Amino acid sequence: MTATCVADSEVSRRVRQPLRTIGLLGGTFDPIHYGHLRPAEEVREAVQLSELRLIPARVPPHRARPRVGPAERAELVRRAVADNPNACVDERELHREGPSYTVDTLAELRAELGGVSLCLILGYDTFLGLPGWSRWRQLFERAHIVVTERPGVGGGLPEALADEVARRVSHDPAELRHSPAGRILFQAVTPVDISATGIRRSLAVGRSVRYLLPEPVRQRVVEAGWYGYPQL
Ligand code: ATP
Repeated sequence: MTATCVADSEVSRRVRQPLRTIGLLGGTFDPIHYGHLRPAEEVREAVQLSELRLIPARVPPHRARPRVGPAERAELVRRAVADNPNACVDERELHREGPSYTVDTLAELRAELGGVSLCLILGYDTFLGLPGWSRWRQLFERAHIVVTERPGVGGGLPEALADEVARRVSHDPAELRHSPAGRILFQAVTPVDISATGIRRSLAVGRSVRYLLPEPVRQRVVEAGWYGYPQL
């Protein structure tokens, strides 16, 4: 009897249809670059995301005010994914007053999208800072978290985060498609050692940033002279 029950639940688990699975990459995107885009693309493939949403932050709560305004950063993000049928830009945070708290964004998405699987993609540097985020434990009620490597960033997890990882870690990307929220997946990706800080520094002194970010983004930034020194 017991054996039958176990077998039944195993079968139902295996045949259950995967959920629509949406990847979310928030960021300042000041400017967007291949260190954002390539890891997110590899997560899309590994988790078999139905779509990837890029969510520019209007006022990031955890860092200095961006160099370029929200409308301009969002324009760069749109240019970056204009030719990508699997990605779109979600500008909801630009229209919300005050700091862009991810937990609020997830609540809005959940209310709109219902019981889909939401996968919040974070670089390891950002993941390490999670316990400093507003209502951070509620994030796990609203989304899965997919952590990608960030070159040059290592070190152990803060204790509170290590506890959450111990309870929630998944080693199978497919698991994230079968529940709406609550797991943590460490997804190996090609390391891309690019940062917006490095790009801004190069632009400020007139150095080339070609091949660090999509060409339509580079052209716009350079033409507008947004980060300083105009360059060829
Ligand atoms: P800045 O240099 O201005 O701090 P950034 O390059 O870190 O910016 P953000 O917009 O702050 O970019 O990052 C948004 C998200 O993308 C974060 O989760 C961050 O960890 C991740 N990310 C940014 N660059 C990389 C990278 N090179 N590899 C992996 N993840 C990255």
